[in-house]
Amino acid sequence: MNAIINQLIAVRKRIESAVLESGRKKGSVRLLAVSKTRTAAELLKVYEKDQRDFGENYLQEALDKQVALKECDITWHFIGPIQSNKTRAIAENFEWVHSVDRLKIARRLSEQRPKEMGALNICLQVNISNEASKSGVSLLELPALAKAVAELPNIQLRGLMAIPAKSSRNDEVQRAPFAQLKEALEKIKEQGYAVDTLSMGMTADLEVAISEGATWVRVGRAIFGERA
Ligand SMILES: *Cc1c(COP(=O)(O)O)cnc(C)c1O
Repeated sequence: MNAIINQLIAVRKRIESAVLESGRKKGSVRLLAVSKTRTAAELLKVYEKDQRDFGENYLQEALDKQVALKECDITWHFIGPIQSNKTRAIAENFEWVHSVDRLKIARRLSEQRPKEMGALNICLQVNISNEASKSGVSLLELPALAKAVAELPNIQLRGLMAIPAKSSRNDEVQRAPFAQLKEALEKIKEQGYAVDTLSMGMTADLEVAISEGATWVRVGRAIFGERA
């Protein structure tokens, strides 16, 4: 378990150095601890070292951990693929959703978000070039989706998310999809929407993502170790 704490500290150092090297403001990149497949006890270790934001991919697994950790002041982020029949539980139990890629899902989250919880923070997942998963809206369809989502009540369009495929270790090849996501965010700003979030960069590529403007890096293995 102490390994987790050392790894968390190492990840914070990686983020801090990347922020410095890219000449960005201190504190401009936040760490989302991706805790899928990890136990509540493992999350608690990281929580006790002041980590407050956790990202989960699987609804039932996340809900179980939320019950186990209900005394903790955790901000929960949903980052996995979303089926329509799961939107209510997501709207009721998370503060952020990074993986919205179609209007139907956004509409349901908006309708099902309890008013007293305030707006649900939404990122649109974009499928850029060599995407690893099939999820994500295409860059071509993004402007229309952004407009429709931004106009829904009870949710706040915050920005964009992507999961680029692992490609070569060639820095320039790795950099391209992050630069494209950044450019897509700028276009949404030009559409007149106050978006501020780029959710990009994971264990393998967080430095490149930060140099291209990431505001959330989503890190699992570098904190908790390899997944089984
Ligand atoms: C698992 C996962 C991550 C974390 O990946 P690591 O390689 O473990 O850092 C980030 N984002 C999403 C959407 C994931 O599913």
